[in-house]
Amino acid sequence: MQFNFSSFKKNSVSVLDKIHKLADKKGVSAYLVGGIVRDLLLKRPNLDLDIVLEGDAVRFAHELLKDLPQDKKTAPQLITYNQFGTATLDFSKFSIDFATARKESYPYPGALPIVEQGTIQDDLFRRDFTVNAMAIAIHKDQFGQLVDYYGGLDDLKNKKIRILHDKSFLDDPTRILRAVRFEQRLNFRIEQKTLALLKSALSQGYVETVKSARYFAEFIKILNEPFVRKYIQRLSELKGLNFLGRNFSLNVKLVSLLEQNRKVLPKNNYCFDDQQWLVYLMSFVDWRYWEGLEDKLKQFNLNKSNRKAVLESQNASQFIKKLQRINLAKNKIYRILKPLSYSVIVYMRLTTQSKLVRRRIDGFITKYSLITLSIDGNDLKRLGIAEDQKMGCILDILLNRKINGQIKTRSEELKEARRLQRKSMNELMAERNS
Ligand code: ATP
Repeated sequence: MQFNFSSFKKNSVSVLDKIHKLADKKGVSAYLVGGIVRDLLLKRPNLDLDIVLEGDAVRFAHELLKDLPQDKKTAPQLITYNQFGTATLDFSKFSIDFATARKESYPYPGALPIVEQGTIQDDLFRRDFTVNAMAIAIHKDQFGQLVDYYGGLDDLKNKKIRILHDKSFLDDPTRILRAVRFEQRLNFRIEQKTLALLKSALSQGYVETVKSARYFAEFIKILNEPFVRKYIQRLSELKGLNFLGRNFSLNVKLVSLLEQNRKVLPKNNYCFDDQQWLVYLMSFVDWRYWEGLEDKLKQFNLNKSNRKAVLESQNASQFIKKLQRINLAKNKIYRILKPLSYSVIVYMRLTTQSKLVRRRIDGFITKYSLITLSIDGNDLKRLGIAEDQKMGCILDILLNRKINGQIKTRSEELKEARRLQRKSMNELMAERNS
């Protein structure tokens, strides 16, 4: 099979052409590999190019850089990882990864592999699935030819996800999650023997041989796929979610609701994409009363603010209940939502059945959360208010009034501050909480 790259954007074709010329000049074989080949064959968009060279990839990328436009606007950035023999050319709109063809062996299950230089055939053999183990030559007279040692093209035609050898899941159990990800994304099926080996890998606890953080990083990729419900359902059906810590039943209803609401989420007001995986994580498991949750999240390498968000989401139903109260003043909505992590607010917005709550959260996001006072502590000091609890309380009351629309201008804020100044601390606290 012969490719002409007509579906590629103009700038990637021109870089590819330069790679071709440089490879020929240096007498090395260069190949496009992995996901890009799969997606080219499936006519699916994929901007990022992976190149494997039977030669020194870092040096090649350095030399290629010299052949590329040098002006500041279009010149790519070169990032090299000498210890891995890889380099990335970042063109901002797309990137090209270069790696030296390698052969891998696994000293024990789940270990990081021992790597040595190899041929393209070795390099393709270390890959996860046949459909990801094809290459296209970009050198000499073989330019554009498909390299398919392991039957990837047939599997692609038959919509099969197949591992390359029986020990694949033992070598790297993260492939369990990858199998489900590609199966669901591409609407393929995991091939029968691969499925049997996957199930046995799960039942024999291979997952425990991998660092939790690494396994979870692969899981995040699933949670970042466009619509996640079917992935999670498939994993659950395979008992592939047990790594989360204990048996639990999947909250399919909530995930469905999330996906429905997500389609109509006002995109200009919310940024969902960055929060997606976290919001899904909150929704498909009922984390309430999950013992040892924080430790588990630490093992998964979630940072402090993401851990805080997942823990907060345990109480989401209480916050939603509060937001459902009738005659809730705007400042009360503000006080309920303000302390919460953004992802928890998005989670509540997407999983509540209540139109009223959705409207109130929208109001908070688009208006109340943006309101600030025109005066600050220095203005209050000038009025003779000391920088203590009283000042904090007065500022809170002023903000409440401003959110409720009772005061608008700077002079109204100052006038109100003077009135509050005369009140006792107890009176102020009562007013703040009223
Ligand atoms: P996506 O379209 O989601 O980016 P991809 O196929 O490009 O998917 P990556 O995770 O970017 O997948 O990996 C690039 C390539 O590296 C894959 O196509 C596959 O050949 C190989 N690969 C990645 N992870 C593994 C793994 N755990 N085991 C074996 N090969 C892998």
